[in-house]
Amino acid sequence: SAKKQGRNRFCWFDVTMEQELQTRNTIESGMRKGIPAGEFVPYYEQQIDLATGKLTGFEMLARWESPTQGLVSPEVFIPIAEETGMIGDLSLSVMRKCFEDAKNWDPSLSVAVNISPIQLLDPWLAQKIVKLLVETGFQANRLEIEITESSLFENLSLAQSIVGSLKNQGIRIALDDFGTGYSSLAHLRALPFDRIKIDRSFVTSILENPESAAIVKAITSLGESLGMPITAEGIEDKAIEDELRNIGCSKGQGWHYGRPLSTQQLRKVLAERNLLPKPPEASSDENE
Ligand code: C2E
Ligand code: MG
Ligand code: MG
Ligand code: MG
Repeated sequence: SAKKQGRNRFCWFDVTMEQELQTRNTIESGMRKGIPAGEFVPYYEQQIDLATGKLTGFEMLARWESPTQGLVSPEVFIPIAEETGMIGDLSLSVMRKCFEDAKNWDPSLSVAVNISPIQLLDPWLAQKIVKLLVETGFQANRLEIEITESSLFENLSLAQSIVGSLKNQGIRIALDDFGTGYSSLAHLRALPFDRIKIDRSFVTSILENPESAAIVKAITSLGESLGMPITAEGIEDKAIEDELRNIGCSKGQGWHYGRPLSTQQLRKVLAERNLLPKPPEASSDENE
């Protein structure tokens, strides 16, 4: 039969697919337990004011501290969370930890959080985020939400209404990974973005590739005329940083400033720079 013939012909392929399916099922069931168990945690990447070199805040990047697989990348678990409908719970659980961390930092420091296009199909998303802010005591005006252009395709009017509610609370909105995917200049008008993030693929190649440099320059001047300052992601060395500063990008982030840090690692760094409030004992001592 055709089925049997097919089996014989694709026997090796079938085994591989079966293994892949098994791996995927293992990850999925691990995630189902791991989300309520608090295994999904925030890591933090520094964001720098390119003109002054000052730390302005962090982008929060989720990681999975899996008891069996170690530290798992969001490139692995975000797509699965999106397909299975776990993304909402996962995101809120990591965001809660993030806000609890961030409320202790110096108030000059902001945090940017990535939101999946799937989450922008939830009419209660803004209320859920605001509730988290109230419960944790983190200030809305220190929060930036990063969304990608693909968020605008599924249900634009819902996305607009959610973003409107978030902005009414004082939360800022950034357009992430601009320049990749289905980039369209019309998207810049669809939502009142406060900031544009240029995708890493243009930034890392800016010194070798004249087209990349031209694109970064054009996006930066476009952003400037629209009142949307630019963050460049993927700055890996000083030469790239210098070039972006010359072009006029307002903020930058990337491995040049260090790898993303865990809550514990970040606390140490901030304490060294006097960007954490002093413990209660110390401050009452000062008052005496
Ligand atoms: P993204 O939002 O564009 O985040 C930037 C990614 O680039 C991060 O990867 C970061 O570690 C990496 N990166 C930063 N600087 C450099 C650099 O100089 N060189 C290179 N080669 N890479 C750099 P990460 O942490 O693996 O995150 C990947 C993506 O996963 C993120 O891309 C974001 O789309 C998604 N993601 C992460 N956390 C969350 C989350 O909490 N919720 C949702 N929905 N998505 C998330
Ligand atoms: Mg991002
Ligand atoms: Mg990005
Ligand atoms: Mg990116």
